[in-house]
Parts: sequence; structure tokens; C-alpha cells
Amino acid sequence: MVAKHTLIVGNWKMNLNMHEASLYLHQLSELVKVHRDVDVVLAPTIFTLQSLSLQINRRQFKLAAQNLYWRDHGAFTGEVSATQLRGIVDYAIIGHSERRHVFGETDKDVRNKVQASIRNNIRPILCVGETTAERTYGETNDVLHDQLIGGLANVTSDELKEVIIAYEPVWAIGTGNNALPSDVTTAIKAIRGQIKHLYGKQAAEDITVLYGGSVTASSAADYLALEEVDGLLIGGASLDAHAFTDIIKKAHKGAAVATNA
Ligand code: PEP
Repeated sequence: MVAKHTLIVGNWKMNLNMHEASLYLHQLSELVKVHRDVDVVLAPTIFTLQSLSLQINRRQFKLAAQNLYWRDHGAFTGEVSATQLRGIVDYAIIGHSERRHVFGETDKDVRNKVQASIRNNIRPILCVGETTAERTYGETNDVLHDQLIGGLANVTSDELKEVIIAYEPVWAIGTGNNALPSDVTTAIKAIRGQIKHLYGKQAAEDITVLYGGSVTASSAADYLALEEVDGLLIGGASLDAHAFTDIIKKAHKGAAVATNA
């Protein structure tokens, strides 16, 4: 099996105007080295995407949309389609907890967006995760099951190769609450179990699964060390160039070997 690259995604959420985003990208470009085993993806707000796409070195960074609309064009005021994003971004975050819980996105919306992404050659990063209440009632596995079934309906085995899953417990996002590495392992095992059930053993091993939820430069290594984790989805800490660079360095396996030597 070809070794997977570690994927580090920085979700800037609704932060940084055009000028700030350019300055930040410049700062990050100076700090981040290109590592062959690490893919770094930046998810700025949609209106800065096109300009940043002209400024980035695509060997160093790829771009992601934080959201998209699933229809290709038409009377959908305020929305941006995957067709319009095609060629600008390589990835799209789909079903982020803030989309689901602040904007009321349903599994059906998420499924349509996953399909629109794939149809437009954009790799969907499908976010799944339970709320505090669901966790308290022991419903984590059921939630993951339903969100995976909902988000991946109609995705073929071939298309699944383009899909990335992000396990993002809602209670850990932007809260400073750290999920225990053992909880992350259990949840991602459940995710791979569901993928195995739907697509087979090889697909379950091959699929890239990220963890996200209040990861910082100090906690990143603990999650990256987990066998089940193929990378991280970082919100707050991705807005600090030094913290984000530190996280990328930790994801670079050569660096870990050198440090241990
Ligand atoms: C996110 O935006 O997906 C996220 C995980 O945010 P934070 O790292 O701030 O919790």
C-alpha cells in the first residue's frame, strides 16, 4: 500500500479580509516548508479564494472552500456553486458542524454537496461528529453512522477515493475542549467500520480520516501519533502562522524521526 500523505487543513472560518488574507498567506509561505509527506490545505472565506489562488504556490498549499452550493447555477441568491469553484479549489469542507448547527444543513444538503463536489473534481472533506447531548446519551456511533450514510449516499467505490472524512465532535470545535486521544481512536474506528460495511475492507483502510476540534500546536502531536488519524482539521490555531507552521512540522514524519534520533 502506498503511504498516505498527512493532510493538514486550516479552516479560517469567517476571518481575515482580502488584505489580511494576503499578508497572512505571505507570512505562512515564508514559514512553511514543502514536505513530500504532508499536504497543506487552506480554507479561507469564499471571497478571498480567487485572489489567493493566484498568489499561492500550489506545491506548498492547496485551497479549500468552506462550503458550496450543490446546484451548478441558477436562481440561488447568495450561493456559490462547485462549478464556479472548480479550478480554484482542490477541496471543499462539507457539512462542517457550524453549517449543520448554525445554518441548519441537513444530511440531504450534505449529500447533495458531496455529490456536487465530486462531479466538479473537488475533493469533499465530509465532516461528521456528535453534539454534547448526543455524546452524553451514548449516541456517538449512531450519529456517525447516520451522517456517513446520509453524506455518502450514491457515492460509488471509485468516487469514495476522492472523499476525505473529518471526525469533528461538535463539543470540541472552537471550545478549547480536547477530545481524549482514546475517544478519537474509538470514533474513527467506528467511522472506518462503517466505511468497511459500505465499501469493503480496502476502502476502509485507504480512506483519509482527519480529526478536528480545538487542536493546538501543543496537542497536535498527540492526535497525529494515533494510528487511525491521517491528518488534522484546524480552526482557531490555523490563524496563527507560527502555531500552524508548528503543527505542519509535527505532521512531517521525517521531523519526528529526526527529533527522536
Ligand atoms: C474547525 O473549524 O473545523 C475546527 C476544528 O475549529 P477549532 O480548531 O477552532 O476547534
